Amino acid sequence: MAMRMSSLFLRTLRENPADAEVPSHQLLVRAGYIRRVSPGIYTWLPLGLKVLRRVETIVREEMDAIGAQELLFPALLPREPYEQTGRWGEYGENVFRLVDRKGADHLLGPTHEEMFTLAVKDLYSSYKDLPLSIYQIQTKYRDEARPRAGLLRGREFVMKDSYSFDLDDAGLDKSYELHRDAYVRIFDRLGFHYVIVQAMAGAMGGSKSEEFLATAANGEDTYVRCTSCGFAANVEAVRVPVPDAVDASAVPAAHVEDTPDTPTIDTLVDHLNDAFPRADGRPWTAADTLKNVVVVLVHPDGTREPLAIGLPGDREVDEKRLGAQVEPAVVDAFGEADFAAHPTLAKGYIGPGVLGAERASGIRYLLDPRVSEGTAWVTGADEPGHHVLDLVAGRDFTADGTIEAAEVRDGDACPACGHGLESARGIEMGHIFQLGRKYAEALDLTVLDENGKLRTVTMGSYGVGVSRAVACVAEGNHDDLGLVWPRALAPADVHVVATGKDDAVLAYAEELTRELEARGAEVLLDDRRQASPGVKFKDAELIGVPTIVVVGRGLAEGTIELKDRRSGERRDVAVASAVDEVL
Ligand code: ATP
Ligand code: MG
Ligand code: MG
Ligand code: MG
Repeated sequence: MAMRMSSLFLRTLRENPADAEVPSHQLLVRAGYIRRVSPGIYTWLPLGLKVLRRVETIVREEMDAIGAQELLFPALLPREPYEQTGRWGEYGENVFRLVDRKGADHLLGPTHEEMFTLAVKDLYSSYKDLPLSIYQIQTKYRDEARPRAGLLRGREFVMKDSYSFDLDDAGLDKSYELHRDAYVRIFDRLGFHYVIVQAMAGAMGGSKSEEFLATAANGEDTYVRCTSCGFAANVEAVRVPVPDAVDASAVPAAHVEDTPDTPTIDTLVDHLNDAFPRADGRPWTAADTLKNVVVVLVHPDGTREPLAIGLPGDREVDEKRLGAQVEPAVVDAFGEADFAAHPTLAKGYIGPGVLGAERASGIRYLLDPRVSEGTAWVTGADEPGHHVLDLVAGRDFTADGTIEAAEVRDGDACPACGHGLESARGIEMGHIFQLGRKYAEALDLTVLDENGKLRTVTMGSYGVGVSRAVACVAEGNHDDLGLVWPRALAPADVHVVATGKDDAVLAYAEELTRELEARGAEVLLDDRRQASPGVKFKDAELIGVPTIVVVGRGLAEGTIELKDRRSGERRDVAVASAVDEVL
């Protein structure tokens, strides 16, 4: 049955809601798809629910096509299973907890590994039952620290989560690939521009893991990709090699600063803030400049000696970078008091050489203009009797000699081929990973193998952000006038707009609607008698159904107008061929 604008539970808004910053959030509220209840919690109005259902249908069809079976777990869950896997505690503040009248702890499920594992344990006991893939499309709860952008990061949201159960690793690989292929089909059908990137398994544990990121300039995830070999990874998951050792001779002198006899850490920080303020206004701090600092001491004869100041965990890395052993001692390069004032450095080291003995005379240093976010250089004047210091600050290195996740930047070496990486942003739409035996072990999910021996099952876990997809598609499909849905997700296939007060117009619009419906199309019919044509057109554009049919003045001459919402193209078509032209 057609949705009728005369009675549809809908009020469109002309203004953007004050709390909405991104277009999908603004437009979904303005066009009457969703309403906010509290931060990150939304009501689905009739139009929004239609779109959500269409996303669900696509996801369901592709899950069913790989033989996954749908079931539905409760959202309200007892504490015990989550206690057994350690996640009751691990989840911290992200989980909604509640207590029943008997004092028993519960939670609102943020994800359902435990329940799926226990269900299989409950019902299955033989290798003959495997492989198995089961899934649900269900409401999840996470008390996100920063719910944002409407449906993009909700505290209540809809997720499809599926889980695979196999006897061995080869089986898991196969289940994983089946899901991966299904995800490709799902995201192709949803009409996303997306990339598949290596990912971190996160709170779910496990090993092999990939994310499907919808490319979006305002996405919360940053990924790097290599244009040479195709490697792509979320910055959370990538480790790139530490760049080559600091080339002290390449540091040009630029901005000369006279300093007190002994420059302190704070003096250096002050100079950084004066001469090289960060683009985003955040001040440099001692932690920025002295975490993994490389000091290049330039002797009066011009020879340069690299020193390192760092934290214990970074020592091996710095030794590697410096090609020399560093002293595991607290040595005050700039004055004992300064180290005391910076507790993180108190357990640090410096070496080789002892700077303290060399710093008796007055030091001048230069600040190099190549300072950028997270990188600071301080260069001293190379004058007789004076020492020159280069400080290269900033990036966090791990003990295995790679740059820590998130610290990775444009231009860093691709871990696969060494070519330069480039970074971009995206929205996490799907996440697949091989859990392995973590949950099966914690909850003792075993089956008998063909030799009658008990074997622990290996699992995969696969999620799609169903409600996030609604926002994400809106984010990528809109213009100045409103939403522009791809056909597969629009709340209706055709928006029939009857203009004017002429009974014949409305009668024909009704007839056309019936004919379109008889051919399987879903129709949104604007049959309002009071609204002006201008209001109706504006609403149609805001709502964003892909084909708009205007029944109005032309009807007397036997024509109606067809408008393509995306291209804006309009044309008159004869009433006689209207249905064929529209569909
Ligand atoms: P994010 O990194 O965005 O916080 P996540 O890695 O915590 O997501 P998963 O646990 O992998 O999310 O959940 C599977 C999918 O559920 C995600 O890929 C995403 O599409 C969706 N999702 C996760 N959190 C939210 C949320 N707060 N609101 C809407 N969708 C979400
Ligand atoms: Mg999260
Ligand atoms: Mg994530
Ligand atoms: Mg994830």
